Parts: sequence; C-alpha cells; structure tokens
Amino acid sequence: MTHIEVDSLTKRYGDLLAVNNISFEVAEEEFLTIVGPSGCGKTTTLRCIAGLETPSEGHIRFNGEDVTEVPVNDRNLAMMFQSIALYPHMTLQENIEYPLKVKDVPKAERRKRVKEAAELMQMDEELDKYPGNLSGGQQQRVALARTVVGDPVAFLMDEPLSDLDAKLKIEIRKEIQRIHARIGEPAVYVTHDQEEAMTMSDRIVVMNDGNIEQIGGVDEVYQYPANMFVAEFIGNPSMNFVRCSLESLGTDDARVAADGSIVEFPIERRADGFTGDSVMLGVRPDNVDLSGTGHSLLSGRLSLLEALGNQSLATIDGPYGELSALIPRDSDVEEGTDVTISVDPSELYLFDPDSENLIA
Ligand code: ATP
Repeated sequence: MTHIEVDSLTKRYGDLLAVNNISFEVAEEEFLTIVGPSGCGKTTTLRCIAGLETPSEGHIRFNGEDVTEVPVNDRNLAMMFQSIALYPHMTLQENIEYPLKVKDVPKAERRKRVKEAAELMQMDEELDKYPGNLSGGQQQRVALARTVVGDPVAFLMDEPLSDLDAKLKIEIRKEIQRIHARIGEPAVYVTHDQEEAMTMSDRIVVMNDGNIEQIGGVDEVYQYPANMFVAEFIGNPSMNFVRCSLESLGTDDARVAADGSIVEFPIERRADGFTGDSVMLGVRPDNVDLSGTGHSLLSGRLSLLEALGNQSLATIDGPYGELSALIPRDSDVEEGTDVTISVDPSELYLFDPDSENLIA
C-alpha cells in the first residue's frame, strides 16, 4: 500500500507563485481532500503529485521513494478529472481496457480485469455500448472503472463531480467512496466545494493563495478553524464576524462587549500571546438564535428571510454589518422587523483582527 509525501513543494509559472512551499502526507487508505477558492493552487498540487507538472522545488515521494522526476505513465495512478474524456469510437469494454492495452497486458488478463472493474461499478451488462449512449453519471462510472482496472497505487481526482447535476453528484460521490474503500489505496481529491470535502474526506487541506491555511480532520477544521479564512471557507452559510472589544481573556473564559451588551463565555482552547483589546467574534449562522429567549447579544433588522427546506436563512442588518442566521422554518419572526440576536456562548469564536488567527 502507498503512502504519499508532498515535501516542500513549490511551483512557479514565470513570476507567478502557484504553490508556495507546501508539505503534507497522505496515509495508506486515507481520503484527503484539497479545498480552496479558485486559483489557490489545488490543481497544480495534484498535477505535481501525478507527474503532469514538474515542481520548481521540492519532492514527491511514494512509499519513501522519490518520484519527482518519474513520468506520469510510470506512476500507475488512477486519475479522474472534471471532463470525462472517454473515447467515443470505442465500446465501454475497449475504453476500460485501454490503460492495460497501453501497458501490453495480455488479452486474457485484460478481459478478466475489465470484467472485475465493470462488476465493481455494476456496469458489466453494458460493456458493448458506446459512450455516446450513456448518461453523464454512467460515463463517470466508466471513467471510474477505467481508473481502477490497472491496479493503481493511488487515486487522484480533480473536481470529478462538477459537471453532474445534484442527484448524480451524490450518487457518484458514494460510488467514489465505495471504490476507494474497496481498493484501499490513498486518494487525493481536489474541489472548491467545501460540502463535498466535508462529506467525503478523512482529512482536509485548506489552501489559499498557494499556501496551506490548515490541515486536519473534518471535525477539527470545522470546530477549530485555524484562522478567519478557514472559518469562513468551511461551513455553509459562512461564519459571521463581528468586531467587539475584549473585556477580559482568561485561561478558560472570556468576556466581550458587543453593541452595548456583554457576553461571557467558556473557552476550550486558547492560543498564547494575544494582547490586543479588540477582537473579531465569530458565530456560525446555525448558532444564531432569533427566538428572543437566550442571552441577547446584538439587535438588528431582519432584512431578508429565505426558505431552505425545513429551515430559513435570515439576513440581519445592524451597525456591525450583516449577519446570517439559520432558523427553524416555523419561526414567527417577520421580514422588515427588529429582532434580538442571542447566541449560545459555548459556540463563539474569537479571532485576532490583525493576524486573523484563532485566539479561542
Ligand atoms: P481552480 O479551482 O480554478 O482550478 P486551483 O486552485 O486549482 O483553481 P490552479 O489551477 O492550481 O488553482 O492555479 C494556481 C495558479 O496558477 C492560478 O493563478 C493559475 O492561473 C496559475 N496557473 C495554473 N496553471 C498554469 C499554467 N500552466 N501556466 C501559467 N499559470 C498557471
């Protein structure tokens, strides 16, 4: 089984620093997702792991062996990209078989491996069809079968679901996880969609502007975002931030004053060294309560109420800016009225407004 190391990887295109000295490892059997906004360097990182790009500096190792200079075709990787690129003039059998043919695997062995891969994808009845006769989801399944047929040492996927509709996305997402669990090799998955990252991964690498902002388990990155960038990127709708003055900061509690009211809350982890008196208070929309029952923190005007399944997304305007709240659909607040905002103090975050790093 394979263990992947990305060691001090830098990639420049002329003057542009696409990836800036990043390091991380992918354990055997691990599903690791690189997320971040468009242009942050996700694809470039994946292409360096694949051997489709040569790093400007740094090393890629598989099982401790330096493969930085090994060409893509000699790395035995399963790759899946946004555009499916099946050969339209070949049957599904021929499409799935193609990587084996290129490697001169004998015909009988090829047939056997194609059958296994097609069975794994539940497509063994359709091997005589041509790609043109298939739906987008079926084509993606063939592409997945083609990636696993060569007994790959790792899976590399770049936004493979982005061309699919919402229902198919969920179906193929499950399929990818099933195949990954079955094959047991590491997977590196690239997406700009934090929800996809959260549902599929063991760990997440959050990238921004060529750098890694945070690496961690799904729950860790959500619960303990290293900084405001991660806090805002992970979670939907995004975390709200309100500038407050810091009244006191102890080892296990803090007091802040916002818009005239004081809130005191327990803290679980605290970064050392913060000495400022102004902080950014972070609160996720799920933890904003408009029912008027909790400890009131702010007030504002409910400017917009949008239905989202069994919840509503409320937008509140106040002197601090705009806040979002996810509230029960049957909540009796009304658009255009004034509301009081309560938060569960244990769900609050504090960030340093200068460095934007998490304080508590
Ligand atoms: P997206 O989600 O939009 O694909 P990304 O996070 O995958 O974005 P990259 O495609 O890795 O980002 O690009 C990182 C930066 O490098 C971008 O500024 C991009 O324009 C630049 N870049 C990528 N490939 C090349 C190339 N072949 N030549 C020049 N610049 C490139």
